Amino acid sequence: MKRRVFRYVPFTIEQDQTAEPEYEARCVSGDESECGAQSGTHRDPGPVEECQRKHTQETGHRRYRRDFGDYAVMRPPAEVAELARVNGGAA
Ligand SMILES: [Zn+2]
Repeated sequence: MKRRVFRYVPFTIEQDQTAEPEYEARCVSGDESECGAQSGTHRDPGPVEECQRKHTQETGHRRYRRDFGDYAVMRPPAEVAELARVNGGAA
């Protein structure tokens, strides 16, 4: 029986520039149940922090659960080299 040998490929992991990262926060303050107030999803952390400041100002709540999400792309070395050449070596 023939064994398949997988060649190790040192993929580079990059953030997918075609998909927006997502930031959000949820207020988890409260004794018996979480407040649950949400910032909504934003493309950068600024508006999320602003939401937190405003909510804390209004309610005195000071604990938040923050979530960040983005997309990653795996690139084989040949592609990384090709991209570097296309971009004139600037990276
Ligand atoms: Zn709250």
